[in-house]
Amino acid sequence: EGRVRQLEAQKSPCRPDACRGGMTHEERTSMPVNSHSKIAFVGTGIMGSAIAGHILDAGYDVTVTNRTKAKAEGLLARGAAWADTPAEAAKDADVVFTMVGYPTDVEDVYLSTDGLIRVAKRGAWLIDLTTSSPQLARDIHDAAEVEDKHAFDCPVTGGQKGAEDGTLTLIVGASEEEAAPVLPILETFSSKIMYFDQPGGGQTAKLCNQVSLASCMVGYADALALAEQAGIDQRQVLELMANGTGGSGASKALAPKALDGDYKPGFMVEHLRKDIALALQRAEDLDVAMPGAETAFTLFDMLCQIGGSRMGTQALSLLYSDEATGAAAGLDWSLLNPEDYGAGDGCGCDHEHGDGCCGGHGEGHGHGEGDCCGGHGHGEGGCCHHHGEA
Ligand code: NAP
Repeated sequence: EGRVRQLEAQKSPCRPDACRGGMTHEERTSMPVNSHSKIAFVGTGIMGSAIAGHILDAGYDVTVTNRTKAKAEGLLARGAAWADTPAEAAKDADVVFTMVGYPTDVEDVYLSTDGLIRVAKRGAWLIDLTTSSPQLARDIHDAAEVEDKHAFDCPVTGGQKGAEDGTLTLIVGASEEEAAPVLPILETFSSKIMYFDQPGGGQTAKLCNQVSLASCMVGYADALALAEQAGIDQRQVLELMANGTGGSGASKALAPKALDGDYKPGFMVEHLRKDIALALQRAEDLDVAMPGAETAFTLFDMLCQIGGSRMGTQALSLLYSDEATGAAAGLDWSLLNPEDYGAGDGCGCDHEHGDGCCGGHGEGHGHGEGDCCGGHGHGEGGCCHHHGEA
């Protein structure tokens, strides 16, 4: 924050005749991005490696870096160059993409002393694909402007499959006109691009998507638990939902994996937990109640605590299963800290531990009296209410 403030203090308005560094606004926005442009890609994990692969396939000169080099080997074998650090990758690049994990990673890559804001070329484009904090995106945009660079947030949706197929939806925190110079590169890995016109706007829109996703997941997981306990076929219920109004992208893509016992990521539990926490923070700033997101946060947070953080999000269904099924998948209920979930036996569900959070069918769930999401509320207590008010 200090670094951003320092840079902001130096900031002058970007008027056509008053840009810093001797470049006019027109010069800065017309920096040519063409098929000879050099691309740097920071973060070659599940999403980044697939996205960088499409940019490479389109014929661009791509330099990659990742904290763990092994995850970049596939791209190196296909012709990408390696750099040991984001600074080294970015130093000659016209366009730098980042696809790291958390806001803290984004802050480090952009705003540290050898971060992209300082080391990238003047006129370079810095595009963050990570799902991260809207405020941080605004700070990075403003800091880049001071240094005669262009930065915008561009989180994505479509999952690992969308990244692999090159059919992601991009959620741009800039106007169509502002992002136009890099459009040919964005199009190498997307099938739809939506513009939210303001720095941080892409991140806020992405968080809206994530809170809806999280509630859809809780919805289908509830439904499948009910089906199972009632002794009707879960796959048939899924088919019904897909043909009715109860289905969702989440139930279509993720529920079958859970029914197959496939908990590989995809999209990691700890990342969805991060997204819901960011959304709840934003909601709190704006004085908005999101009871669905509160419930989902509690469940995904619990899943992280008991060893599920690096599983795919479909592992949510394990919270509804018995302890033996959870243990076979790698979960350990004894890791749960009951203090985090209100009184007594853990999550506040009024159930016997060892029966799963949402499971233990008939074990005293206490509908009408218990508070299933009880008392966590991302550090502030309370379920399904607006931070102690409702
Ligand atoms: P991931 O596999 O963990 O990839 C993140 C990569 O960034 C990791 O390989 C990590 O290195 C690297 N990294 C982190 N900090 C770094 C740094 N300072 N310098 C260099 N490399 C760094 O996660 P992912 O699934 O690709 O997700 C990435 C982001 O996209 C997350 O914010 C996630 O919420 C979002 N997202 C994911 C999906 C999905 O379906 N997976 C969909 C949409 C959005 P290590 O290899 O050492 O860990």
